[in-house]
Amino acid sequence: MSETSLIKVRLGGQDLPATASWAEGLDIMLPAQMAALIGNGTVDWHDSAVRSQTQASAVYLRERNAYLSRPPTSARLPVNYRSIPGPLRRAIGRGIGRLQRYRQSQWASFPGWPVDLSADAVADLGDVPFQRPARTPVLLTHDIDSAEGLANLVKWFFPIEEGHGARSANYIVPCAWSIDRGLTSEICKRGHEIGIHGYDHSNRTPFAPAAERHARLAAGAQVGAEFKTAGYRAPSLVRTKVMIEELASHYRYDSSIPTSGGLFPVPNNGCASARPWKIGTMWELPLSMPRDGSLQFLGYSPTRILSTWIKAAYLIASSGGIVCLLTHCERGFSGNPPMLKIYRDFIEIIAADSRFEFLRPIDLVEHLDRQSA
Ligand SMILES: [Zn+2]
Repeated sequence: MSETSLIKVRLGGQDLPATASWAEGLDIMLPAQMAALIGNGTVDWHDSAVRSQTQASAVYLRERNAYLSRPPTSARLPVNYRSIPGPLRRAIGRGIGRLQRYRQSQWASFPGWPVDLSADAVADLGDVPFQRPARTPVLLTHDIDSAEGLANLVKWFFPIEEGHGARSANYIVPCAWSIDRGLTSEICKRGHEIGIHGYDHSNRTPFAPAAERHARLAAGAQVGAEFKTAGYRAPSLVRTKVMIEELASHYRYDSSIPTSGGLFPVPNNGCASARPWKIGTMWELPLSMPRDGSLQFLGYSPTRILSTWIKAAYLIASSGGIVCLLTHCERGFSGNPPMLKIYRDFIEIIAADSRFEFLRPIDLVEHLDRQSA
């Protein structure tokens, strides 16, 4: 399918097949051709032509905005954007976010914000084979962008997680700052997972010439080998198709594609799916929950961030997807008392509901591999 226009449709009244009943009343985006089909009234979902068109639409929706085709501003600056001090960088981000807050229809036309499950709803309309998990996996992940983040992780985040039997996955920038090996061995000893977060967080790898891209990915993976790393998360979620495919030679999974990316790294990015899928030999675990930074840049209060997370988690659970949450441990993001409080509240709510289970991404990957063997 070539690039086609998308039309918003509210599901309901179209006699949905049982597999898609969770999406009743949901607004989703559909390729124009499929929207026309649904608009005609009664649809025979069992008709083989309808089914194959629907299945193709599901893949199209997932792939359409999953990758970046050109570098975001942060990767085009003449200097490494991280040489701008963190607080100033966050202030710039917040300024952009506040300006954009009321222009959501432009930066989240597709995927929609804060969660868009169009690809999964369409997959279920087309009866794409899918095994719903018995309990909704909840992956707690952190991007460790700095030595401060690493220290805060162990000091503030682990006690909250461990208090509810959860273990997190922590994606560490491998080649930018000196990694405290005492802290990384504590991460492993306490049963948490370590992954790799790019190379130096300059957001250049995905658009670098092939030889440089290989070298940067290999250097990161070499540090990862020390921690028996299985997973990768791209800095700022800047990713291209070619880079993600190349990760398969180093990792068992990637988690760099958001379900709904919101404003960053570029408007209208994401896969509109909360279900893992295979890219070559590797699993893609979509980052399904709205990120702390994205919500903060938009000016959301901690209370509103918590209610957004809870609503998103329940919607994702109803769809059969995975809840994958990213928080940053630096004080300027989630490593401060008001944000730590809502992080604790979120974990408490999830822990109290037996429909959810905390899993490390590596455990989910093991499970998915067994299931598909
Ligand atoms: Zn990062």
